[in-house]
Amino acid sequence: MSEAAERLDMVRMRVEEAAHRAGRKAAELCLIAVSKTHDADAIRPLIAAGQRHFGENRVQEAAEKWPGLRTQTPGLTLHLIGQLQSNKAEDAVQLFDAIHAVDRPSLVTALAKACAKLGKWPQFFVQVNIGDEEQKGGCAVADLPALLKMAGEAGLKIEGLMAIPPVGVDAAPYFALLDELAERHGLPLRSMGMSGDYEKAVVLGATHIRVGTALFGTRN
Ligand SMILES: *Cc1c(COP(=O)(O)O)cnc(C)c1O
Repeated sequence: MSEAAERLDMVRMRVEEAAHRAGRKAAELCLIAVSKTHDADAIRPLIAAGQRHFGENRVQEAAEKWPGLRTQTPGLTLHLIGQLQSNKAEDAVQLFDAIHAVDRPSLVTALAKACAKLGKWPQFFVQVNIGDEEQKGGCAVADLPALLKMAGEAGLKIEGLMAIPPVGVDAAPYFALLDELAERHGLPLRSMGMSGDYEKAVVLGATHIRVGTALFGTRN
């Protein structure tokens, strides 16, 4: 077994255990392998091991790596998990199957326009600044209802919420809050949990977990 296959096995097993503990089915959970900074040679072994969902945080980097990999393996799903500039909205819609970074009205407008132009509608998540941190991206918790309303009016179907909790503190209350916000707005999907806390996220209702380091090793 390749090292990548072993790591994938380990993460899948831990996801299954966490899901079992929470009375959930692991099959309902989407494991996104976050491949940012890793090149195609590092990604191929994971694809060979059966991984199909991948996450990138930069449009330009994804545009360089993924068209080639997708030609080699049909059926891959690509998620954008990083901040998106409005002027890259069209590239993002073209390239990604899911966009986890909708966080402001100007971006909603740009994405709705890009989708209509390309006739392609990826799955959308609103990123919430769940810890109300000044330096962090994402829509303020207080602004979420207005942003969701605006997206609806623009014809952009939002299916879930995404969050990156503050670093260095227990993520559990933030995962619980994201789950509650999604529930309140009738959104079925929750993108939360990374290498250090994905099991906790699974127990607290994640539908999408974004795991980089535990699958690829440390980034440079
Ligand atoms: C890099 C990144 C991850 C993966 O982080 P790891 O700790 O390496 O698992 C998850 N989500 C987002 C938004 C990221 O930028």
